[in-house]
Amino acid sequence: MLMCRELARIASDYIDDELGTAQKLAVKMHLIMCEDCRSFIGNLRTSTDLIKAHSSGRADPELVRRIDEQVAQTLNAKRRTGDFT
Ligand SMILES: [Zn+2]
Repeated sequence: MLMCRELARIASDYIDDELGTAQKLAVKMHLIMCEDCRSFIGNLRTSTDLIKAHSSGRADPELVRRIDEQVAQTLNAKRRTGDFT
């Protein structure tokens, strides 16, 4: 069973679709059961998309900044509750 911290470690590879089939399946299984990681991946995907759009000059920098803040807040909340160590 994949732990939240392991998922966090490979999350960007998952989003970039760089994981092997077994690892990808483990992530999907975890996401079905873990709401925290679902929102974590969701936020990460949003900011990853925005960063990609930004580097190609299409994203609004203000929007990127707001999303970054939101992701930071989510991560801080997880650190406070201690279930994301
Ligand atoms: Zn989790």
